[in-house]
Amino acid sequence: MKKPNAVPSKGNMWISGCIIRGISKGSWFSRKMNLYIAFLYQFQTQFLTLIFETFPCRILMKNKVLKKSGFIEHDPQINIKFMRMKNYYGKFFEIPHVVLLGAGASKASFPKGDKNGKILPLMKDIITTIGLSDLLKELPITDEEYNDFELLYSNLSKRASNKELMRKIEERIYNYFSDLEIPYEATIYDKLILSLREKDIIATFNWDPLLLLAYRRCGELLEKTFALKPPVLSFLHGNVGIGICRKHKKAGLIQKGCKECEKAFEPVPLLYPIICKNYSDNPFIKDEWIRLQHYLENTYFLTIFGYGAPTTDIDAMSLMHEGWKKNPRIELVEVEIIDVKDESKLKENWDKFIISHHYRTLKIFERSYIYRHPRRSIEAFFDCFMQCEPWRENPLPKTNDLNELIDWLHPLFEQEANNNFIPNWNIEN
Ligand SMILES: [Zn+2]
Repeated sequence: MKKPNAVPSKGNMWISGCIIRGISKGSWFSRKMNLYIAFLYQFQTQFLTLIFETFPCRILMKNKVLKKSGFIEHDPQINIKFMRMKNYYGKFFEIPHVVLLGAGASKASFPKGDKNGKILPLMKDIITTIGLSDLLKELPITDEEYNDFELLYSNLSKRASNKELMRKIEERIYNYFSDLEIPYEATIYDKLILSLREKDIIATFNWDPLLLLAYRRCGELLEKTFALKPPVLSFLHGNVGIGICRKHKKAGLIQKGCKECEKAFEPVPLLYPIICKNYSDNPFIKDEWIRLQHYLENTYFLTIFGYGAPTTDIDAMSLMHEGWKKNPRIELVEVEIIDVKDESKLKENWDKFIISHHYRTLKIFERSYIYRHPRRSIEAFFDCFMQCEPWRENPLPKTNDLNELIDWLHPLFEQEANNNFIPNWNIEN
């Protein structure tokens, strides 16, 4: 796994960034002061650019000044305007966007069900959607338990006598999800994968294989046509589509089997909703969590899509927070929550992860930063909030045709393949 670069904690970039992010808060005087200092910072940047453009010894001067400022220079041949971008972004380009997916994301991605119309269940309707009622008819289940599988399963697990019943429930759930197939048309999962880059990660709590199937078809296309890699995936509660070989430490599509020993893969266990989940027993799941923590330590933008942070996931929240609190730029990281719940409830759920006003809530994926700035979410956000230079929005086209999507994204792929990231300044507005 490619380790995202650390970001300098000192230098003009960060001082300015903190100030600019604070502009909307504070007294009239402090707002004026912030604007004044931000202006001075911009003036200094323009002044340095002028010097680099004017003097023949500009490369030497540039290196000296940039080193002092904590910037990194990649290519001395690059033109000055773009160099400035590269300098600002030299390390930022490697900063990952972290996306967390919950059951709500699968539901939103497949509102009419999978390819064959099989509905994606939520925890509140899993009993009726999957058809578990016959297994539960002998039990004195409360209405609350019937409408909240997390509560029901958690209560069942407290009694050893329910072991066989739980095995049957788990088997039925596993089989239901295993049969799901991805529709032909592009789904939100395809759009998500195509709108993120190799440096980014999508970590999912979902058991269904649909993200994996979207990843497979989009990933193959990206690699074959543009030699680009899709974002990294992590399956935090196991997944029916993944299998592992413990001997050779390989994981992959469960149907494929291990390439080394040519034996069938062992299924990854699904972590069911109990308070004390075991995140370290299975080597695959353990690694998935270590990876997510690493990305949370290094991210600059966290998008949480349809994940409700249930009480049975208290350990998951702690593990995520362990990585989160080590993030050196935690005060600048943006948290974006895509969920149909009220903002106050969402803020309460994610209180530990939200610093000050650095969060936003939205109801649909189409309002997300990823959708509005595909493949450039970190860069666009950085310029808008740290440099006061917002990008023009460049939302994905409204199409569910995978080929049309790929065609539309083609110029962005080409920029990346040529390592030539062209900013999308909002000059005319
Ligand atoms: Zn093997």
